[in-house]
Parts: sequence; structure tokens; C-alpha cells
Amino acid sequence: MGGLTGVPVGGLVAGRSALVTGAGQGIGLEIARLLHEHGARVTLADVDAERAAKAAAEIAGGDADSVLGPGRDVIGLGCDVTDETSVENAVRHTAERFGGLDILVNNAGITRDASLRRMSAADFDAVIGVHLKGSWLGVRAASAVMREARRGSIVNISSLSGKSGNPGQTNYSAAKAGIVGLTKAAAKELAHRGVRVNAVQPGLIRTAMTEAMPPEVFAAREADIPMKRAGQPREVAGAVLFLASDLSGYMTGAVLEVGGGRLM
Ligand code: NAP
Repeated sequence: MGGLTGVPVGGLVAGRSALVTGAGQGIGLEIARLLHEHGARVTLADVDAERAAKAAAEIAGGDADSVLGPGRDVIGLGCDVTDETSVENAVRHTAERFGGLDILVNNAGITRDASLRRMSAADFDAVIGVHLKGSWLGVRAASAVMREARRGSIVNISSLSGKSGNPGQTNYSAAKAGIVGLTKAAAKELAHRGVRVNAVQPGLIRTAMTEAMPPEVFAAREADIPMKRAGQPREVAGAVLFLASDLSGYMTGAVLEVGGGRLM
């Protein structure tokens, strides 16, 4: 990682190899799209393999089959981040296909919102499993490859819910706060091997996840934001691209807030 030597020809992450989890839609899809626009070869991994293949095809501008062919720089892959073998396969597949792994974005996520009175232990486990264990499995598998190469950037998607706590989201807020601890501990372990680990905390972003909210709740949350609007997935992707690229070469263990000024 050479530091600030100018924008490389072909984009900020030209020639790099990237894996984005939960990339079939929403924020993950935009992260994958922006990394690809900036020259990366990208694996879009999602629990829904068909959705991942379609998303990869959309980015590559071709049909689903063509992006799976040899020599292509975008691939869609089924991957359940709660499953150890599945995550290791996604890392191995990306590294073999693209000749290494430079960037991992742990983005896959779910919500199972409920008050403490109503939340089941299964709802708690499911959310912790996807966000926290899923990110940990990703960090462990990717860092094994990156530390040998002595370079790499891992970006974990946390949430402002992990900073402030949200009622009805004891599971989600705990998982997202846990991701910050994971990020900092891994950053300290891996820094001397040239691997950086950072996190992004989005605020309210317009995706399928937030479209499930009642409109009046969404409007009330928007009214609370100093910039008076929800963010777009691409605005989260911009922060991820920065952390993935050499522009942030001296940053590790950092948490970037992308929330329109909310909860600063
Ligand atoms: P989204 O539109 O629901 O996309 C998340 C993707 O992850 C979906 O395709 C989902 O598949 C997939 N996924 C779920 N479980 C998975 C698993 N076990 N393995 C692999 N993929 C899995 O959500 P989003 O809004 O883009 O959120 C992306 C990330 O940003 C999440 O970590 C979320 O917590 C975080 N975030 C979002 C907001 C926001 O306002 N939207 C704010 C802060 C943080 P299914 O649809 O089949 O579950």
C-alpha cells in the first residue's frame, strides 16, 4: 500500500480483488458497484445465490451466465455468512479466481425487531449470528489470506444503532456495537501484517431493510437528522471505497459515521 501517490489509473482500487457479503441488493450492491467502477474485480456474495448472480450481471452489464464465465471480473456467489464453510469457500473462490483478496466488506445483515417483552431468544441469536458471527468469520477467513500477502483492507458495516442503541433493536444494537469491538481488536492484531480493519456506521439509509418500517416511523427518524433526509446506499459505498483504497492507508480501527449528522 503506497499511501497518497495520486489516483491510480483506472480508479481508486484498480486491479484489486474484493469480496462483498450481502451484495444481492441494497447497500452491499452499491458497494460492489462502486468498487467495480473504481477498477476492482468483485465477488458479490449473498445468501440468495440467484439474487447474487443477477446483481453481478447487472454490474457487469451482461446476463447472469456471462459473468460466471472465465476471465470475467464480476462474479455472483451463494454464501451464508453464518456458515463457517460457506464463508471460507467465498474467500477461497475469490482469491483463486482473482489471484488474491485485497478487500473484504462484511455487509450482510438482517433485522428481527421487537421489544424486550416480545423478542425471542431465536430472534436474538439470528441477528447476532448474521452480523457479529458473520463478520467475525469473514475477518478470520480473509485475514488468513491477507496477512500472507501483507496487504488488505477489511471494512465492517456497523450502524449508528450500535452507537446509540435503538428501542426494539436490543439484538441489532448489540451486534452492531460488537462489530466495533471486533474491528478494533482485529485492527490491532493485523496492523503489523499490513492489513487494515475499519468500520462504517450508516444512519438511516433507503433500502429494503428500512422500507419495511412504518412510513410515520421513517418520517419521524428523517426529521431527527440534521441533513433532514435519509441517505442513499451509494453514500455509504463512498465511505467504504475510501476505507478500501490507499487514500485511507494510515487508518485502521477507525469508525466512520455516515448519518447526515445524526447522533454526532
Ligand atoms: P438489505 O437490503 O436487506 O440487504 C442485505 C442483504 O444481506 C440481503 O440481500 C440479505 O438477504 C443478505 N443476507 C441476509 N442474511 C445473510 C446471510 N446469512 N448471508 C449472506 N447474506 C445475507 O439491507 P441493507 O439496508 O442494504 O443493509 C446492509 C448492511 O447495512 C447491513 O449490515 C445493515 O445492518 C447495515 N445498515 C443498514 C442501514 C439502513 O438504514 N438500511 C443502516 C445502518 C446499517 P435476505 O434479504 O434474503 O435476508
